[in-house]
Amino acid sequence: MELDVGDVGQAVSTGTLPGWDRVEELVAAAWHRNRDLRAGEVADYIPILAEVDPELFGVCVAEVDGGIHLAGDADHPFSIQSISKAFVYALVCDAVGHQVVLDRVGVDNTGLPFNSVMAVELNDGHPRNPMVNAGALATTALVPGATPAAKWTFIQDGLARFAGRPLPLDEQVYASEAATNQRNRAIARLLESYGRIDTDPLAVVDVYTRQCALLVSARDLAVMGATLADGGVNPVTGERVVAASVCQDTLAVLAASGLYERSGEWLYEIGVPGKSGVAGGIVTVAPGKAGIGTFSPRLDGAGNSVRGQRATAYLSRALGLNVFASDVRTPDGRSST
Ligand code: GLN
Repeated sequence: MELDVGDVGQAVSTGTLPGWDRVEELVAAAWHRNRDLRAGEVADYIPILAEVDPELFGVCVAEVDGGIHLAGDADHPFSIQSISKAFVYALVCDAVGHQVVLDRVGVDNTGLPFNSVMAVELNDGHPRNPMVNAGALATTALVPGATPAAKWTFIQDGLARFAGRPLPLDEQVYASEAATNQRNRAIARLLESYGRIDTDPLAVVDVYTRQCALLVSARDLAVMGATLADGGVNPVTGERVVAASVCQDTLAVLAASGLYERSGEWLYEIGVPGKSGVAGGIVTVAPGKAGIGTFSPRLDGAGNSVRGQRATAYLSRALGLNVFASDVRTPDGRSST
């Protein structure tokens, strides 16, 4: 991953963001410096995703005090896709508890692509990673509700509370994926055979396909991320969505697995938990500070937005978000930076 951030320097993780005007300036710069980048390809394995305008590019930072900074196509709607996995995971952890999800789904990166069947086989049917399709299907199977319709309502309501507004379903995206998701159906059947899904697996795939087809914008992703950054309280609506401990669990999982098999590289270069989706969105969470939402449809080989990664890398450096960057001050006044 080539993440040219220019000469912005490395600000340390300070505990607070710089002032309002500086954040405005940096969000605009993150957009400007990457807008001409054309690298990557739009996803086409879900046929309708190939029809997107590849030039679209939006960036948003939502601060934990509710302040919003926007650049470019930050209000353009697109399907949330895999980013839903992070928020459904949080809702399920909140509803059924840390241990149940840990035992049933796991928290480790498989090191394999998001739609890997091999990963399930290599782990004796244990999904391990809730941020790829097998683990996400096992997580969606744990959603409270006696019927698929009740589970779907739980998810749609929960994601709306994260975003602070109702999120519509893109019927065309849903229909396009539902017609071509044989692989996800196969994964769900396989998980059923291993006792990791104990309800109708095809109904689980249908709910999962719907959750992936919810429409969000970069602004929505930023607010959803800011809710995880704010201990589970949506900073725009003031509503508590999940417990603070659930945010901690979710962010640990995102740090390990949010960018598929490139998660280590992302954490190494950018240093904050994030989650990407194949429609081109990325949500990034700087605990206690902000959420970042980006949207740009061209993807790298792992399915992560190229411009989204670059813009986020720039913001992480310039805003001092990297959780591993410290400035230790000793009692005699020495500073490590
Ligand atoms: N709905 C997509 C799928 O299941 C989500 C994948 C993704 O965003 N990586 O294939």
